Amino acid sequence: MKTETTIQSLNAALSPARLARKTIGFVPTMGNLHQGHLNLVREAKKLCDVVVVSIFVNPIQFGPNEDFDNYPRTLEADSQLLAEVGCDVLFAPSVQQMYGDLPRRTAVVVGEITEVLCGRSRAGHFDGVATVVTKLFHIVQPDTAFFGQKDWQQLAVIRQMTRDLSFPIDIVGVPIARAEDGLALSSRNGYLTDLQRKVAPKIYQSLTDAEKALRKKTPLAEVLTSIEANLTKAGFEIDYVEALTPDLEAVNAFDQDIVLFVAAKLGNTRLIDNLVVKYS
Ligand code: AMP
Repeated sequence: MKTETTIQSLNAALSPARLARKTIGFVPTMGNLHQGHLNLVREAKKLCDVVVVSIFVNPIQFGPNEDFDNYPRTLEADSQLLAEVGCDVLFAPSVQQMYGDLPRRTAVVVGEITEVLCGRSRAGHFDGVATVVTKLFHIVQPDTAFFGQKDWQQLAVIRQMTRDLSFPIDIVGVPIARAEDGLALSSRNGYLTDLQRKVAPKIYQSLTDAEKALRKKTPLAEVLTSIEANLTKAGFEIDYVEALTPDLEAVNAFDQDIVLFVAAKLGNTRLIDNLVVKYS
């Protein structure tokens, strides 16, 4: 596996593949890799000739009181994992390489679907994501890009942006990888104390309980209230518990496919999860 830290050297590394018209698969990440990320790489390996993974902790998607400075940076271990799963090129640029020294005056802003769910409590977050992904798409020029369904709203924003701005890139969503106890894998799980780690799987349990209740015809509003009550009782501070369509439109009842979304804090650690509940 090659590791490149500049746009110029990445271009040089990808040039033979581009000339040979090989397909390029791209997996953008912020590193501290776990099986969730590696599943994206495995999927990319299946569908593309050459796989590029980026590791870049993107400062402009973190709010002023968020964990940019403390975000886990584990490049050496990440690089070993990526080599093991067959990643071809790791792109690990510095902030300076991505943003330079001059002021940035352009942003990619996706409307409406960035204002719900995480958008309400994380002002500017999705502008930061859409902007950096646009830059990475231009830099890597992939045929296909892979994103996790763990960040369902992010995936929806990227799909929308790709369509609206006519990026010639296929976007593939990959299912959520979970620990054995159901907790969605996340780099932020490492912030949890042992005790919090034992409580954290209750998010997924409450989502699967909710699905069972919906299938027994419990009204949607009642199901959402009971997720919130259960998690609050377990010690979570709820940011939101909501149901929307897979395209993030409002729903009032379980009369179509829906996605249940939870964001909740355990101490200072904010966890998100979701579950698709098919109607038929
Ligand atoms: P991150 O490094 O957190 O920015 O995540 C990079 C990519 O990995 C994003 O597309 C995430 O949605 C995806 N991802 C992170 N955790 C998981 C998981 N548990 N299952 C599936 N995809 C994930």
